[in-house]
Amino acid sequence: MHSKTLGQQVAIVTGASSGIGRATAIALAMEGAIVIVNHFPSEDDRINAEAGVREISDAGGRAVAVAADISREDQVEAMFAETLDRFGKLDILVNNAGIERPASIQDMTLADWQAVIDVNLTGQFLCSRAAVRAFLNHKSSEQTSGAIGTIIFVSSVHAIIPWAFQTNYAASKGGVSLFMRSLAQELAPMKIRVNSVAPGAIRTPINHEAWMSDEKMAQLLKLIPYGRIGEPEDISRAIVWLASDAADYVTGTALVIDGGMTLYPAFRGEG
Ligand code: NAD
Repeated sequence: MHSKTLGQQVAIVTGASSGIGRATAIALAMEGAIVIVNHFPSEDDRINAEAGVREISDAGGRAVAVAADISREDQVEAMFAETLDRFGKLDILVNNAGIERPASIQDMTLADWQAVIDVNLTGQFLCSRAAVRAFLNHKSSEQTSGAIGTIIFVSSVHAIIPWAFQTNYAASKGGVSLFMRSLAQELAPMKIRVNSVAPGAIRTPINHEAWMSDEKMAQLLKLIPYGRIGEPEDISRAIVWLASDAADYVTGTALVIDGGMTLYPAFRGEG
């Protein structure tokens, strides 16, 4: 009989009330993990997170919704403390929550800059630190996989491709890239694996303006050699693999999942 890949593991997915985070929470739960569906502390996000939790429990999985603004140290600490209280341990962190605040540099306010860095970079630091502390407290009898814990960042192709008018976002994702690799180097001897996925254009609320009209979609598809926009499940499948023992020898890697966007299709037959 097929036993579930992530049975008895406990996972936190940040920003899991929509998009890639929601798909990832569902995918991890369907592989047997108990999933903490983190959401921003707003009413809309709570409702959406609870809908995801219901979808998981209706399908026979286990999940709970936990509110925390991941850019706030006290709220992150409270979420991890609640996780350890309720489930006794943590095995997987998916650092997914992220925001965009586009503006030309001459019009970018310090608040626009700071908000993106606070969520996309500082938030990932706060959650990673709390996760590592939890992993290091694992008793060996609780270990259910090759690693004592694993962290997966949701970065972006914009850790690689420069992005005019989103300089704050590109700076945050570029920061995540070397934060992830440095952390992987630091933690490998402790049997903690750290990796990232770098999505291209994925159909979620964050970039709805890029795919909402036929005209915008046609423009977008010029950037994607594989000829379609990505779906959240294209990313969640890879995250499940990175979290699992099938990827036990993988650490410090950024897995680009972009339908070829970083192949710079404008150079095909040109340049
Ligand atoms: P999304 O807007 O659906 O998801 C982002 C989630 O983060 C939302 O649920 C939001 O409520 C949550 N969030 C925002 N600030 C938060 C905070 N302070 N605390 C807790 N949660 C917070 O968009 P998505 O596309 O699913 O984005 C998920 C991740 O994927 C982001 O890091 C984004 O940068 C990255 N990404 C997305 C794409 C894409 O094309 N959609 C491409 C590359 C990278």
